[in-house]
Amino acid sequence: MAFKPANNIQDLQYFGEFGGVNPSISDSSTYTFLSAKTMFDTFEGNADGCYLYSRHSSPSNLYLGEALAAMEGTKTATVTASGMGAITPVLLQLCDAGEHIVSSRTIYGGTYAFLKNFTPRLGIETTFVDITKLDIVEAAITPKTKVLYCESVSNPLLEVADIKGLAKLAKTYNLKLVVDNTFSPLSISPIKLGADIVIHSLTKFINGSSDTVGGVVCGSQEFIDQLRNVNDGAAMLLGSTMDSLRSASVLKNLRTLHIRMQQHSYNASYLAEKFEANGLKTVYPGLTSHPSHHLFKSMMNEKYGFGGMLTIDVGSLDKANALMELMQERNLGYLAVSLGFYKTLFSAPGSSTSSEIPEDEQEAMGLSDGLIRFSIGLDADIERTYDMMLACMVELGIL
Ligand code: PLP
Repeated sequence: MAFKPANNIQDLQYFGEFGGVNPSISDSSTYTFLSAKTMFDTFEGNADGCYLYSRHSSPSNLYLGEALAAMEGTKTATVTASGMGAITPVLLQLCDAGEHIVSSRTIYGGTYAFLKNFTPRLGIETTFVDITKLDIVEAAITPKTKVLYCESVSNPLLEVADIKGLAKLAKTYNLKLVVDNTFSPLSISPIKLGADIVIHSLTKFINGSSDTVGGVVCGSQEFIDQLRNVNDGAAMLLGSTMDSLRSASVLKNLRTLHIRMQQHSYNASYLAEKFEANGLKTVYPGLTSHPSHHLFKSMMNEKYGFGGMLTIDVGSLDKANALMELMQERNLGYLAVSLGFYKTLFSAPGSSTSSEIPEDEQEAMGLSDGLIRFSIGLDADIERTYDMMLACMVELGIL
């Protein structure tokens, strides 16, 4: 039977304290106990249903975590203060000094910087590979490797990871496959394809209103318990806890994700086809020209489409900047990093979100100066948006 992630979210039933249709927000950092023994048991993790201190867990965070676990098909999940606040503890939990990670080379710049510049200080080394080539991934695995790391759809090049193939490798070599699914929520369900742990930056599509940062780790009960262990859990000890007020608001936004993703995908697909037909170098997983179009198709939950992200290459950074400024002036979107907003957002990743990647490496992975990354918005009239974008391109001599 097909996996239905949005149904899984919708089927959860929580009531607030007074019969409210939304769960009550736990507006407390600490909780009282009637007996000192129960407090001790809770600290030891042996008093189910009791709360001690909101860095450990809070009802609001657990509600959001459960909804996201249901969406991804994991036993449980833990929510964090940001996407990086999810990624960094996961990797630090899984790897000790002297161990090794094989990572896709096209990943979010912050994750790349963490693996390239930060974890080597702790004795954890990373080999960056072209994740679309399973033979290259396999060749990079050493006896010290613990983790295969990738994004389902990579930031910013929109490369697509063969999650089933990577999961097979992970099994063979006894590694954990960690997938950042930020670009393709609902469209791709990595756990169903064999991933061990799924991470999201909730900051993006899942929250969808660009009003907060947030993150989540979805995984087995055993792994999430390890992350939250008071003695040696990386999430617990590094302290990247989400605030309860925020988790309550993210949960409310999550409930409309399925509708938003369909509209993001519809609009992005419309623009990608038009841009390509006009001779622009366009990358979108929904285009048959995308090298991994069929792979994406074989993995996707069809209803949610190929996602809201696309890139075009307009030839130079100057042209890219001029186009983005003109599009913003005409209210076609905002010149801003991030993604998943109701309004289209665009940026030139080489000089912004991927600027942590050195220029020569950007070149090697095909991240060119003239690349513009679009997070396509929820425009009600995408035909009109397209006409106006086209006019900007013609005016600037790009087309
Ligand atoms: N993963 C991906 C794919 C991202 O694009 C980002 C941020 O842009 C992150 C993780 C980091 O998330 P956050 O900014 O919420 O820490």
